[in-house]
Amino acid sequence: MHSSKLFIPTLKESPADAEVISHKLMVRAGMIRQLASGIYSILPLGLRVLRKVEQIIREEMNQIDGQEVFLPSIQPAELWVESKRWDFYGKELLRIKDRHGREFCYGPTHEEVITDIVRKEIKSYRQLPILLYQIQTKFRDEVRPRFGIMRGREFMMKDAYSFHADEKDTQHTYHQVAKAYSNIFERCGLKFKQVQADSGTIGGSFSHEFAVLADSGEDEIGFCVSCDYASNLEMAESKPPSPLAPPSILQDLKEVETPGKKSVKEVAEFLNLPAQQIVKTILLENENGLITGLVRGDHEINLVKMKNLIGCEWLQPADEKTFAKHPELHRGYIGPVGLDLPVYADHEISALHDFVTGANKPSAHFTGVQVQRDLKVEKFGDLRTIRANDSCPRCENGKYQVKRGIEVGHIFILGTKYSSAMKAVFTDHNGKEDTMVMGCYGIGVGRTAAAAIEQNNDERGIVWPRNLAPFQVIIIPVNYSKDDLKDACDTLYARLQEAGIETLLDDRSDRLGVKLKDADLMGIPMQIIIGPKNLSAGQVEIKVRKTNESNLHPYPQVIEDIPNILKDL
Ligand code: ATP
Ligand code: MG
Repeated sequence: MHSSKLFIPTLKESPADAEVISHKLMVRAGMIRQLASGIYSILPLGLRVLRKVEQIIREEMNQIDGQEVFLPSIQPAELWVESKRWDFYGKELLRIKDRHGREFCYGPTHEEVITDIVRKEIKSYRQLPILLYQIQTKFRDEVRPRFGIMRGREFMMKDAYSFHADEKDTQHTYHQVAKAYSNIFERCGLKFKQVQADSGTIGGSFSHEFAVLADSGEDEIGFCVSCDYASNLEMAESKPPSPLAPPSILQDLKEVETPGKKSVKEVAEFLNLPAQQIVKTILLENENGLITGLVRGDHEINLVKMKNLIGCEWLQPADEKTFAKHPELHRGYIGPVGLDLPVYADHEISALHDFVTGANKPSAHFTGVQVQRDLKVEKFGDLRTIRANDSCPRCENGKYQVKRGIEVGHIFILGTKYSSAMKAVFTDHNGKEDTMVMGCYGIGVGRTAAAAIEQNNDERGIVWPRNLAPFQVIIIPVNYSKDDLKDACDTLYARLQEAGIETLLDDRSDRLGVKLKDADLMGIPMQIIIGPKNLSAGQVEIKVRKTNESNLHPYPQVIEDIPNILKDL
């Protein structure tokens, strides 16, 4: 490709709304342009990178017998009504009507469509398992589209779905896909972690996210520094407490006045106790009404864990309106002793003695509270969010580290959620009808490319990992209108093309400085700079984008060496 013919509208300035470096650099390098909020046009340089990601995905999915399909993005409402997601999905689902007034949506995901195909076409256990995938545009009307194509409303996703005769077989494919995903992200040159993720009420550890570590990530990842346990923070397990021998004399329950002392900090200071001796009672609401969660004062309650422990459909902290409806509940002074609401407690509470809780009246707390004697707990469980340096739940002496991550992939065992609702059944080897078990697996194509930039950039621009680079080499003549330089560039270009190396020749008449700046910004791994002085001495300059190191190489011999030099970049 010749730069003069290629549409790469580079910019000096970043867009005003760009918060993260990948968004800034993708716009500045002329890869993308915004059409509307969260909706982007992908320009030639951007598309070359996305195609690289897609190709890597295809190769790895095909390797595990995935078969590519291409499903419609417009989906009839009836399928979503059948799966019960038409109402449940809420405002993220872009709903549309055709000229006859029939309802459709623009697919945010394709479980319904794929299940509909499979239930119609697959009848016997002999046809199972099957793994189908596609790379296609999705639409989600995100509340806060941002970070360029990292959180768009319209975006490219690789989504895959597998169908099985039983759970065990589903797990087998799940592990194969997990391995394929690791290969994909490794080949993309990313530093990532496979982390345990929330699998909702289905339970088990059958959902994992692939998180690219980056400060700009929207997720928090907890991982052990000693073993390979890693989890999304909303799931990261805390180690159960080791039971301590109770003190020989337990305190009596005593009500104390704590005027105006509502927060843990205030109460702890007032009573001269450590925060972990104060127990927080958090008032929550779910579909069945009000409930409470107990955690130690120095811990934070984790609503995802709480929801999974109870197995409810939704859960949220009580708001002003709820407190207004319940004048008997005094914010800051609620406690589990004598409270007529279900109590769920973090397992750390079971190891406490002589602790403090609210006394369910204004300006009063109880001291000397004992679990056995004073509380009626529905269920104990792991209900708190872990912190850095907490003990690892899986190994002996490991400690948690917490970092931010970008979720680039998500794999999930769905069980029979969709196949039951949509009656995707098959005949098993005994001739009996059974319901298929499903898995689903997604990767954000654009988000993966953006995440690669988050991890690989410097003050001059993008530094592409080699497998994602839009071009491997850029030839930069100091002056392309000079015959001998032009000849050398053209020869080099032709030879590299022959060798199958994607090469860009900057044949523009711009100043050298401009061309070098653009090359740096675009992040092409190898720059070959051809100038009159060097060339007359039989040399060209090769600059490695990643290290910014330049070396002179003999020309034309260097042509033979370029594939080798590239291998190490
Ligand atoms: P998030 O929590 O970031 O919204 P999600 O859990 O909704 O992601 P999935 O439904 O699992 O995402 O989608 C699979 C993959 O698609 C994600 O891992 C991510 O890489 C990508 N993805 C999801 N939403 C977007 C978006 N708005 N823009 C770009 N990529 C996205
Ligand atoms: Mg989402």
